[in-house]
Amino acid sequence: MDIGLIIEELKRLEEEKRRLEEELKNIGEDEGIIVCKYVRCSKQNCKSCPHGPYYYVIENGKWKYLGKSADPVLIARKERAKELKKEIRKIERKIMQISSIISF
Ligand SMILES: [Zn+2]
Repeated sequence: MDIGLIIEELKRLEEEKRRLEEELKNIGEDEGIIVCKYVRCSKQNCKSCPHGPYYYVIENGKWKYLGKSADPVLIARKERAKELKKEIRKIERKIMQISSIISF
């Protein structure tokens, strides 16, 4: 096993992680997903139930009403933020794995 290559790979991963974190910072979106759902009202025998769809954003367990439509740009940003976080976690796992090889 070539330690030089492993170190190269670690550097590459660190660089990639830094790049993704930078992009995440620029997006400026924290955890949060957008949901679209139909809701039932409290009227009995309501003919138009369920109503909607309505959009909500869930952040830190809190639901915030967005309206009858959601900004596609906002949706795209949230999606990208989610994707980036997933990528960053994946890279962190790889870095940990490789680091544990080196320490042996
Ligand atoms: Zn109703």
